[in-house]
Amino acid sequence: MPSVWDRLGRKAELRSRAGLSRRPSPRRDLVDLASNDYLGLSAHSEVVDSAAAALREHGVGAGSSRAVRGTVGLHEELEEELARLSGRSSCLVYSSGYMANLGAVAALTPVRRGELRVLFDEHVHASLHDAARLAGAESIMVPHNDLNAFASLLAEHRPPLVVVESVYSVLGDAAPLRELESLCAEFEALLLVDEAHAFGVRGAEGGGLARGLSEETVVVSGTLSKAFASAGGFLVGPSVLRRHLVDTSRPFLYDTAPPPSVAAGALAALRISRSADDARERIRARIEAAAKRFGVAPSDGAILSVPAGEAAAAVEWQARAAGRGIAVGCFRPPSTPDHVSRLRLTVNASLPEAVFQEALDVLEEVRP
Ligand code: PMP
Repeated sequence: MPSVWDRLGRKAELRSRAGLSRRPSPRRDLVDLASNDYLGLSAHSEVVDSAAAALREHGVGAGSSRAVRGTVGLHEELEEELARLSGRSSCLVYSSGYMANLGAVAALTPVRRGELRVLFDEHVHASLHDAARLAGAESIMVPHNDLNAFASLLAEHRPPLVVVESVYSVLGDAAPLRELESLCAEFEALLLVDEAHAFGVRGAEGGGLARGLSEETVVVSGTLSKAFASAGGFLVGPSVLRRHLVDTSRPFLYDTAPPPSVAAGALAALRISRSADDARERIRARIEAAAKRFGVAPSDGAILSVPAGEAAAAVEWQARAAGRGIAVGCFRPPSTPDHVSRLRLTVNASLPEAVFQEALDVLEEVRP
């Protein structure tokens, strides 16, 4: 009987041969076309100063879950501002976007294990798939952004919940939210919209693409780890949802609160982001420039996805770019449900224009 370590080792070897190995810590000294710090706020002096002040006042860790003793005024202030920004009645902050998604799906699906079906756009984030598993729901994959398929599967399965992203994390395109909202209202389903890649970048004041959609039908999840430059996640929706989550949400109740310094950093970044229209405009212009350069359609956020052939070719392109000082993301199966390997370029609005343009030149030059 082979030991578990032999088995894991053989699997790692097979992944390596297929070009599917991952490195946990790519270099930080490269030009950033890979992170989600879209507005370039993580090193902003006001953000750093706010986090540092909270660190001195409250210490390093929150010490316990939000429900026990981990909540400080900063968490509540952050929740108020996030609710206001997204145009919703209330907000609950979790320790990550991943946890918020686990909490959302569990809360929005009635407990009927075995007969519970949830519709997912096939490109939604891994945390949402894991959330369905945890909730004991059967996930039904819907072809990406296909409204006809959403309509017929809603009619067939009558699910309580439909799950999409407003700006997709790998493809960078947007969901048809208004149409999905109408469909969900018609079939009495809730629509969960993960706005991880839209907050700070899209919508009025960077308040996301679901701002203005009905709170009756639409619940929004988000993260503080991308444009809000920090860490943590949140759900926004009607007050009754918050009350339910505070009493019952396991990823909220049994997880240590985000450190106060992290909440302070996010709050400072959020406040700056509301008036960052120049940065949002720069992101849009850079996405258009990069799309033109690589012959793909411009996307709807700060992410541009460029098909790169086989997984090995995508890895090679990423490695050559790194060799020339540029960090880009590389997505391969199984992270890509359509099995297409891609380079993912992300725009950091604080990068000087000349550096950004030069990085595009290099990427074009080193394409395998
Ligand atoms: N949703 C989406 C769409 C994401 O891209 C991510 C982060 N990769 C998450 C949720 C999870 O957010 P966090 O990193 O805060 O856990």
